[in-house]
Amino acid sequence: MADCLHILNNLSEISEKLNSREKILLGMDHDGTLAEIITTLVAARMTESMRNVLYSLSKNPRIHLVFISGRTIESLKEVVNIKSNNIFYAGNHGFEIDGDHTDYTFNDKDALEKIRTITEEMCEKFSGIEGLDCEKKIFTTSFIWSTIAPEKQESVRSELSEALKKYRGIRIVEGKKLFNIRPDVNINKGIALGTVGRHFYKDEWRNYLTTIYLGDDNSDEDALKTLQDNDIGVKITENPSETTNAKYYAKNVNEIEEFLMWLNEL
Ligand SMILES: [Mg+2]
Repeated sequence: MADCLHILNNLSEISEKLNSREKILLGMDHDGTLAEIITTLVAARMTESMRNVLYSLSKNPRIHLVFISGRTIESLKEVVNIKSNNIFYAGNHGFEIDGDHTDYTFNDKDALEKIRTITEEMCEKFSGIEGLDCEKKIFTTSFIWSTIAPEKQESVRSELSEALKKYRGIRIVEGKKLFNIRPDVNINKGIALGTVGRHFYKDEWRNYLTTIYLGDDNSDEDALKTLQDNDIGVKITENPSETTNAKYYAKNVNEIEEFLMWLNEL
């Protein structure tokens, strides 16, 4: 696979892509993409200048914004903290989606009950491990291990896999510094992005929207891989040779902000 192109060095190509369709769907992860992860994932917050540029973008009638995160929708709204009607939020990797007065939330009671039971069991089991946080999010649960020792991480992983053998239809997804357990259904950041696209233009959405997607983590690959030639996928990484479905890369959150400022001037 060819190296990624640096986003700020390829703005004229990007501008052509944006002009190929009427409107823009701007999909964004939060932690590590819009907000730097300094200590722990949960503590990541975007700067005021990032928030200001996103607020301006939300006022642009040509752009639809959607924040897509592993956080709960509640936590995501709280950290984004932008008052605008032109924003969609997809929490829990797309299990919860709302915006434009519409709700697309997952509602399989049987699967949700299994998640609740496993979560209870495993949080109890892991309660003695210092540095391991158990984040309950109704649809999925994340076991966040940002500060525990590597050998402990391995034992958390195997204990989780062992516990899941008792339940059909639940799986583990590995993220940056976390294990997430979730119903084994076709919901991910890519599906969430498509749900929002279809909200505006039904199945024709790709004909009307150039999609930009910004993300730094494995779960973002699910969204990046749904993009087409005229779309703009951006991975936040220091390494342009990293294996990714993104065509472009930005080195850090600051470069993402610079890109969004450029977008705001179009
Ligand atoms: Mg992230």
